[in-house]
Amino acid sequence: MLILKRLSDLRRVLDARSGRIGFVPTMGALHEGHLSLVRRSVEENPFTVVSIFVNPTQFNDKCDFDLYPSTPARDAEGLLAAGADILYMPEVSEMYPNGTSTGEQYPIGYLDTVLDGAFRPGHFNGVSLIVHRLLMHVKPTHLYMGEKDFQQCLVVKQLIGQQQLPVELIICPTLREAGGLAMSSRNERLSAEARETASAIYRNLQVVKEGLNRGEEFSALQQQALQALQEAGLEPEYLQLADALTLELLPAADPQRPMVLLIAARLEGVRLIDNLRV
Ligand code: AMP
Repeated sequence: MLILKRLSDLRRVLDARSGRIGFVPTMGALHEGHLSLVRRSVEENPFTVVSIFVNPTQFNDKCDFDLYPSTPARDAEGLLAAGADILYMPEVSEMYPNGTSTGEQYPIGYLDTVLDGAFRPGHFNGVSLIVHRLLMHVKPTHLYMGEKDFQQCLVVKQLIGQQQLPVELIICPTLREAGGLAMSSRNERLSAEARETASAIYRNLQVVKEGLNRGEEFSALQQQALQALQEAGLEPEYLQLADALTLELLPAADPQRPMVLLIAARLEGVRLIDNLRV
């Protein structure tokens, strides 16, 4: 596995290749969820590039950026074992040669106004900026992203359409800890006790889903779950039911549509998100 920091070096290696290239963008502090994406890409492509770049423009909370975990040596070991061909670790100046405050805006529209779009102003613009630039650097044929970041997948799908990028987005299932907590780099900032508490997030998503499947009203299920989360010691930001294609919020279940439950909650100052298809 080559570890590259410069765009010029990356292009020299990739320009000598033709055919499928799989790409897995990450912010590092890799866990099994990330590695499942890498293994899938390695299975499906003769060449796989993984990037590690903690993107400053997608953090609306400076403290979250400063505390973002970094485990580069362990990450490189995991990626080597998973079969990645290139680990691309650019510096900020490589991704943002004109600085990080150029004010470049992406037409994200509705997706920037709901859920994480509403709670994290500027976040999806930063995500669009960096994903677009990384795609221009790597020029993959196949892009692997995790359903754990459900809204992010929809933003990137829209970006690919709007910019007419010649890449196929492959959305991979969420890997979870034994207790159901979605794996996340931010989990590393939680105490052992908080990790147990945080499993209430997925448990309550399941309770709401089961209730919906029994025909119970969403609003009542939502209230019960929010209360249960608070009693467990979490601070929920939202728990919503949405159309899984458009993310239009649904006040009640609509069996004619694909649906997804989405949640964000804070614990010990760490913001956690999860989702479950209904
Ligand atoms: P991040 O490093 O958090 O930006 O994540 C990099 C990629 O890994 C994104 O496409 C995430 O959706 C994906 N990912 C993060 N956590 C998981 C998980 N638990 N299971 C599957 N994919 C994940």
